Amino acid sequence: MVSRVIPVKTFDLVIFGGTGDLARRKILPGLYRRYIAGQIPEGSRIIGAARADLNDEGFRALATQAIEEFIPAKARDAATVARFVEHMHYVSVDATGTGGWKELAKLVRKDVVQAFYFSVAPALFGALAERLHSNKIANEQSRIVVEKPFGRDLESAQALNATLAEHFDESQIYRIDHYLGKETVQNLMAVRFANILFEPLWNGRHVDHVQITVAEIVGVGGRGAYYDKSGAMRDMVQNHMMQLLCLIAMEAPYKFDPDAVRDEKLKVIRALEPVKPEEIVRGQYRANRDGKSYVEDSENPASLTESYIAMKVHVANWRWAGTPFYLRTGKKLRARTSEIAVVFKEVPHSIFGDSEAWHENVLAIRLQPNEGMTLSVMIKEPGPGGMRLTEVPLDMSFADALGDSGADIPDAYERLIMDVIRGNQTLFMRGDEVEAAWAWTDPIIDGWEARGDRPKPYDPGSSGPEDALMLLHRDGRRWRELKE
Ligand code: NAD
Repeated sequence: MVSRVIPVKTFDLVIFGGTGDLARRKILPGLYRRYIAGQIPEGSRIIGAARADLNDEGFRALATQAIEEFIPAKARDAATVARFVEHMHYVSVDATGTGGWKELAKLVRKDVVQAFYFSVAPALFGALAERLHSNKIANEQSRIVVEKPFGRDLESAQALNATLAEHFDESQIYRIDHYLGKETVQNLMAVRFANILFEPLWNGRHVDHVQITVAEIVGVGGRGAYYDKSGAMRDMVQNHMMQLLCLIAMEAPYKFDPDAVRDEKLKVIRALEPVKPEEIVRGQYRANRDGKSYVEDSENPASLTESYIAMKVHVANWRWAGTPFYLRTGKKLRARTSEIAVVFKEVPHSIFGDSEAWHENVLAIRLQPNEGMTLSVMIKEPGPGGMRLTEVPLDMSFADALGDSGADIPDAYERLIMDVIRGNQTLFMRGDEVEAAWAWTDPIIDGWEARGDRPKPYDPGSSGPEDALMLLHRDGRRWRELKE
């Protein structure tokens, strides 16, 4: 397989919050992997900027430790790590004060690609954007990267967009949704738009329904206080799951270009119907032998926040009229799995009569674990004894199908960071997309808050509340089994 990686120019990447959890777990190890792949040009600088009182050596030691912790031993060696961290510098910066900005201005060069990663609380975005300009560090070519949560409702998202827009053009702003950086998610676009096979069937005439599942085994654990202000709807549905839905439901963009793709996704979000209260099931895990309940984890005994949500969503346009999209996501469920399943309709007439083995064709796209795709097809059971049908999977694990290069699937963050350096916004959310997503989400949340709806309890290790099963049973359908 010939690799056609688009080259990267020399860059200065400033990571505000460079000592934080996200930087240690994802950004720094991701950059190391790109370094091994030869994508960090010599002369590029990775500059940590955070509150801690560190120097270059201290930041290099922190990065080395993060790489040792988060990169498997077989994928690193001490000499390479030592060469990599030579690219690193550190400035102690106060986002809301004056400390450190002059030093930062000296370190960031004007004649290379400049990127500023805001890996800090969103409350600091405005202060950072303002200081990057007042200290004449950023220019019209600089890029900024911002993290979720991007607002907690339409109003706060609009305020955040307005703050950034005071100093940066939309073409400079990279809003990360790391789901969009996943190999399989991009493959979804390749499968849909680079094959003639699926597109004629990709509509309400042939697709019975779509299921999008993001299930986790872990509870809210250490981030209970944060999560309690958010809940599954804000934490998962408004961003990641809506992005997945958009990629499944969107029309073909006229080309694979950032605005062409994002225009099509925006149309999908605008076509979403309001969700009826009876088509939403919210859940909250209770305690069992193995662990604490949600209210204990969140340390809020009166919490009405959902750790699980299932909903039936309608995309009101010609392509999808009559085809529901069922979304579900939750914590402390039976399995850790993320999957999109496109369930096709049955054949119009079965020439084989009734068969208990009968199943619809399903195209299942696995995001984790073991990224890949399965298409279930009906075949004749081998051997004599008449025409008995059985379902077999056409199964493609990307790691197996792509051999060594597949086994080395880059993490979403490293891919997205390199896209920032290359100046490619295709896999980042545009401001109007984020606002449209909140405009759809807000009335749903306002509705259950006004009604005082209580989330339904469910057992840890289960597949969620009973009512969520009923949501599909009522329609004569059922959820796919939750398994890894
Ligand atoms: P963290 O609390 O671990 O780190 C925060 C960083 O910000 C530290 O480096 C700290 O020094 C710096 N900082 C705080 N106040 C500052 C100030 N006044 N001036 C300069 N620096 C300051 O946070 P985190 O978990 O790394 O998260 C960073 C951002 O990424 C947040 O917006 C978070 O919501 C988002 N995010 C994090 C994760 C994750 O897995 N940790 C996932 C998705 C999104």
